[in-house]
Amino acid sequence: MVERFEIALNTPAGRLTTAIDVPTGFIPITAIVPLTRRLGEEAAELEIHQAREAGLTISCQMGCAACCRMLVPLSAPEAFALREYVEQLPTDRRTHLLNRLSDTKDRLKREGLWDRLNDVAEASKPVPDEELDPINRTYYALRIPCPYLENEMCSIYEARPAACRELLVTSPAELCQDLVQNPVTPLPVSMRIGSILGLVWGTITSSPPRLIPLPMALEWAERHEEESRRTWPGSSLLDQVLDNMWRFLSQAFQRK
Ligand code: SF4
Repeated sequence: MVERFEIALNTPAGRLTTAIDVPTGFIPITAIVPLTRRLGEEAAELEIHQAREAGLTISCQMGCAACCRMLVPLSAPEAFALREYVEQLPTDRRTHLLNRLSDTKDRLKREGLWDRLNDVAEASKPVPDEELDPINRTYYALRIPCPYLENEMCSIYEARPAACRELLVTSPAELCQDLVQNPVTPLPVSMRIGSILGLVWGTITSSPPRLIPLPMALEWAERHEEESRRTWPGSSLLDQVLDNMWRFLSQAFQRK
């Protein structure tokens, strides 16, 4: 059984109206991930439309994966959802992905980054930007292709993290070859879906909002499998998501 909710959100790029179906019973956190991402994508569509109206061009195209060398952070609900996705893949596909993840782990260990990333994933309090920035820069300097990247295409496209969906640029694509040195112009993001899901998870489990680096997301989700089995009423999870979206939107309006 599902209950339909009519949603209306005022975003800096226009009004988002949509209907979403939420199970009426108790559901795990992963059940709320797709609809939360969908709301984020609908908000992004408004930003894209507004940018095009202003004469700007979105440079991001299929086959360009320059940004897939950055460290991608996931919220806990997204890490659990990614694990579910990988687990239902055909065995040969799953084995292939797990081998790639293992190669990436070996490389990160050789570079002395794996343990630092693990500390971020398991931190008992939010990690400040001053600590995250050097880790992000060191990781990006290595230009390690995302373990889910194949032939410059995302091999988990429908399950990719919110952070990957949110990075769109209006500056020339060639500038993305060096996202640190070049003046790249990202499209504004009024609702950071990964952060919103992380805040929801933090509230319902009384844990700190955490960022889980993508290369270790499956391992993290496996270690925390017990937590992923907990369930909550679908409507209360939706309330939590919407509360956090409104907070993000109100901050986005204040920044304008
Ligand atoms: S998950 Fe996909 S889109 Fe995200 S960094 Fe990896 S390959 Fe790129």
